[in-house]
Amino acid sequence: MSILIILLILSTAIEVCAEKQMKAVDTVPPLQLVELPYEYNALEPVISERTMQLHHGKHLQSYIDRLARYIVNTPYSSMPISQIVVMSDSSVYDQNIFDNAGQILNHNLYFAQFSPRGGGEPQGVLADAIINRWGSFEIFKQAFTQSATDLFGSGWVWLACDEEGQLYIVAEPNAGNPVTYGLTPLLGMDVWEHAYYLDYQNRRNDHIDAIWNIIDWPEIEARYEATGVAENSCQTAIERMWEE
Ligand code: MN
Repeated sequence: MSILIILLILSTAIEVCAEKQMKAVDTVPPLQLVELPYEYNALEPVISERTMQLHHGKHLQSYIDRLARYIVNTPYSSMPISQIVVMSDSSVYDQNIFDNAGQILNHNLYFAQFSPRGGGEPQGVLADAIINRWGSFEIFKQAFTQSATDLFGSGWVWLACDEEGQLYIVAEPNAGNPVTYGLTPLLGMDVWEHAYYLDYQNRRNDHIDAIWNIIDWPEIEARYEATGVAENSCQTAIERMWEE
């Protein structure tokens, strides 16, 4: 097989994998307020009802309202949210679009990752991948917590995976999301003060410690599995091509 044909097949396989990864994060149309799978008061005492009212009902809604104004009559208006984030990140003229689209994507993932019956540890292939990367869930948790505590100013810390299922902890300032460099976000810690100041004031660390008690691990496992990396399907498809 000629090297050109191999490269063509390989790039198509990678594109298919990237598309699969995007689908895992595009759960809601860009301008639709994500519906919560629980009541505003359901996450107390970790997150208060008042914080949820403001965070979901006001902060997220205002990102949506602003993005709606910025993308009307532009090519962005027909894109899924992850594509808006990736495209606007590469344009120096679209900082406003990137900031608001990034915050919409981030919060859609954030609010859907909690449950009043959450906590504990992940199971299955995600648990295996965490142990493979950090040695234990406890060491992963410490590393993630440290990263969120150390992040200067406003931003996000993510557990993300690449197309081979390898996991990373990524700290991003402001509205950053690892989709901009091809990773799939799985779990996001919002360290903007609006996420915790009413309930914890300056004690960001206490807030982060408490958050682990409401993480809905089956949801995070489902995001990991939705990328297709669980069965290593992308990786084996590519490997198979090299062997032919
Ligand atoms: Mn927030």
